[in-house]
Amino acid sequence: MIYLDQTATTKPDIKVLQQFVDDSRRFFANPNSSHDLGKEALEAINGATDDVLGLLKANHHAITYVSGATEANNLAIKGTAAAKKHLGRHILTTPFEHPSVMACFSRLVDQGYDIDMVPLDANGHVDLKGLKDLLRRDTILVSIGMVQSETGIVQNITDIKTLLDDYPNITFHSDVTQATGKIAYDINMLDLASLSAHKFGGIRGIGALIRRKDIPLKGMIDGGHALDHLRSGTPATALILSLRYALKKAYERRDRQYEHVRRLKKSLIDRLSQCFDSFQPNFSDDAVPHIVNVSFIGYEASELLKALSDKGIYVSTQTACSSGASLSRVIMTLTGSKERARSSLRISLSHDTTMEDIESLCVTFKEMNLR
Ligand code: PMP
Repeated sequence: MIYLDQTATTKPDIKVLQQFVDDSRRFFANPNSSHDLGKEALEAINGATDDVLGLLKANHHAITYVSGATEANNLAIKGTAAAKKHLGRHILTTPFEHPSVMACFSRLVDQGYDIDMVPLDANGHVDLKGLKDLLRRDTILVSIGMVQSETGIVQNITDIKTLLDDYPNITFHSDVTQATGKIAYDINMLDLASLSAHKFGGIRGIGALIRRKDIPLKGMIDGGHALDHLRSGTPATALILSLRYALKKAYERRDRQYEHVRRLKKSLIDRLSQCFDSFQPNFSDDAVPHIVNVSFIGYEASELLKALSDKGIYVSTQTACSSGASLSRVIMTLTGSKERARSSLRISLSHDTTMEDIESLCVTFKEMNLR
């Protein structure tokens, strides 16, 4: 089995899983119970929160734990829209956002919010002048993902933040799901940031909205027994602790992993460009090397994916969350080519990927008689 779909999800780290089992039994009490066992569980969660904020070097933030980045994006976007509607209904985002972001905006349009798409340059980066031109007095939210999940394109969050500094009514949200554990970033540039543990070796079902403490936000899940006012439900102590543990491990290996996947990507691209005339890369030089988007002109991506899968090699077309569409909306926007959008594969790498995996992929493409 060769797993090259690390962007869709990662295999949970065995140590994280073992720790999760231990913590589930040790901290089983409800953290909202007033007895000592409950208080111990709550203290463990508070310790994990301090560690996560410490790892992220967050100066003014708190954490709302959620089920994953989809929920974090929903809370960030709909929660901001609800909390700030008295200030305006204008929101800016980009056409490259993840479906869990886009779907929130579709819902908000139905509720009378006004959503504008920020223009992107030829490399898929936010056009700062275009963004500036769209900013209005009634703009309440700007939501721009840090690393694009299909292409690895990285947005310059610091430049965007500098521009937004002149607009105190605007909440700046970024989906940092694909950035976390891959690259260093400054969380203090952001008011809200969404992340998900299963993208960096953690367990599926736990994520976080990192939020500046002074940012207005309306919760979406009502009830009791909550860690904070934004998300009710008995806190999932062991899952929360597992997120901290997975993040710590991801941060420890991040720079080593980056160098490793950079070498793998270079080797992959060298081989593909030497061997296949139909090959076209779909990324700019500054994209993260963990996500390698390529097209084989004249081939249907879904057929390539199936042929590879039959041989035990797992890649994806588009993001796993939008699979099913026949062409990639993102590659179409980026390249303007239907051919490239129809034939694009996302090959995603991690510290677990080896040079032998890359070699086997290239050999398999040859065996498939790709031109
Ligand atoms: N945002 C991005 C950029 C993603 O890649 C994903 C996962 N495909 C999500 C959000 C959704 O994350 P989750 O699976 O944790 O809901």
